[in-house]
Amino acid sequence: MQVHHHPLVGAALGTGRAITSYRFGPQDGDASPKVYIQASLHADELPGMVVAWYLKRHFAGLETAGRLAARIVLVPVANPAGLNQHWFGAQMGRFEMRSGQDFNRRFPEIGPELALELKDRLTADPAHNARLIRAALRGQMAALQAHTELESQRIELMKLACDADLVIDLHCDWEAVAHLYTTPNAWPAIEPLARYLGSEAQLLADVSGGEPFDEACTAAWRYLRGAFDDRFPIPMAARSVTLELRGVRDVSHDMAARDAQAIVDYLTHIGMIAGEAPEPPPLRHPATPLAGCEYVHAPVSGVILHRRDIGETVRAGDIIAEVLDPLDDRLVPLIAQTEGVLYARHWTRFATAGMLVARIAGEDAARQGDLLVP
Ligand SMILES: [Zn+2]
Repeated sequence: MQVHHHPLVGAALGTGRAITSYRFGPQDGDASPKVYIQASLHADELPGMVVAWYLKRHFAGLETAGRLAARIVLVPVANPAGLNQHWFGAQMGRFEMRSGQDFNRRFPEIGPELALELKDRLTADPAHNARLIRAALRGQMAALQAHTELESQRIELMKLACDADLVIDLHCDWEAVAHLYTTPNAWPAIEPLARYLGSEAQLLADVSGGEPFDEACTAAWRYLRGAFDDRFPIPMAARSVTLELRGVRDVSHDMAARDAQAIVDYLTHIGMIAGEAPEPPPLRHPATPLAGCEYVHAPVSGVILHRRDIGETVRAGDIIAEVLDPLDDRLVPLIAQTEGVLYARHWTRFATAGMLVARIAGEDAARQGDLLVP
């Protein structure tokens, strides 16, 4: 195991943070595949941080045993800047307080620059093209200039992940069952991971909007395929998945150990780790389009009284919660319009008017535009 520190731009005099990465497996350039795993990009989403610690111990042992067929880069604390944000005792991890920006948006997507750089060097050999693209991606990322701590954090993470074959980004939701985000193209390869993990909702979108980390890791390949596929074969050589490891309070040894084992089993199943993986259990629910998710909002303010639990399958017309105004004796029902798994809901029990309360994974891709929670 190698340990590397990647300094960030110091936000103010006397401060300086760094990303810490751990590297395992063969050190053979691009000869063996690369897996990149990070946790807690939204700083206060801690289940993945514990999973990463269990993974570090797994990978160190597997490396000693000579079983790592892939290079693995692990970043257990992907957002040191956000971890130190507190507002009167409450940790605030999703948005940077200086700029108001979501820590998991606006990652650099490099497409046109790569196309220009590579247009005279691509050939009819897809493997050659993939090597070329990875080297060029590393060069383009290394040349990016950061002016703020936040920009430098995004760039350092992209430099570590941009040439990976597989990227796993560990997040969690407010209150949720395990679920994941990936692309329709990557889904067949990611499906066994959903099965090992017991994921209850598999939300697919080519572009969900806002340049989140997982999409930035595959954007270059998508762009180059569109730009060159009629002239040169460009493989879709990078896959990424965001795992939502339940809710923010679901932090325990038991769950983290199980999730880490699920990831190790998956990496073994796809040959990144040598050995025999157990047969993955059946998929709990089929994949659905991210655009099919119903976001249920409270039309009025009041106390939220849930009628259905996360993980339940609800039908259109079901009352999933009520919003109580104890002064006017008013009880406003929140009614599902969609059949599907009620996979996530807010942690707070007080709704302001218009607040997002719950999400249901439906099949009908009815939504357009930015698809993620704002
Ligand atoms: Zn997150």
